[in-house]
Amino acid sequence: MSPPTRKVRLVGDAEYRDQAEANLGQPGDASLILRGRPRAIVMACPDGCGETLVVNLDGRVGKAWRFDMRGGLTLYPSVWREGGCGSHFIVWRGHILWCGRFERNNLEPDYDAAIEQFVFDAMDVEKPRDAVQIADAIDELIWDVNRAANRLVRRGDAKSWKADDRWVFTRSV
Ligand SMILES: [Zn+2]
Repeated sequence: MSPPTRKVRLVGDAEYRDQAEANLGQPGDASLILRGRPRAIVMACPDGCGETLVVNLDGRVGKAWRFDMRGGLTLYPSVWREGGCGSHFIVWRGHILWCGRFERNNLEPDYDAAIEQFVFDAMDVEKPRDAVQIADAIDELIWDVNRAANRLVRRGDAKSWKADDRWVFTRSV
């Protein structure tokens, strides 16, 4: 049992799962399965339990995560291993942010306040939009948009509330 990690290390692409698993060494190591298109991320569970996680990226074969490689690996939504060790974490620009256990020492990626204006511009005064819709409109990462939108809310420039199990935002001015 090794300690939990807070970083993802990409260890090279693979065509098939066994090949991807062979690439993995330490907790947080991740290998992209690429066959014509991105298929899955295979990851050594970052809590150090020794298990391997498979995160599906291919919407044709079931629930799929969005992934992005800008500034390191990003996955959306969070990864939650409901059986076994129960690890639950966010992968954001190569960082692992733990949900629940271990979250005390979470370290978010650097913040670039320049995104706030784009997020604000993509919000409407009346029509609520969630972070996914805003991120798609301005081609930014959903986690980055979510952080910027919540800062706008804290400053009073935007409002947010929960609608149908997701947080939505409008401009307040
Ligand atoms: Zn684990």
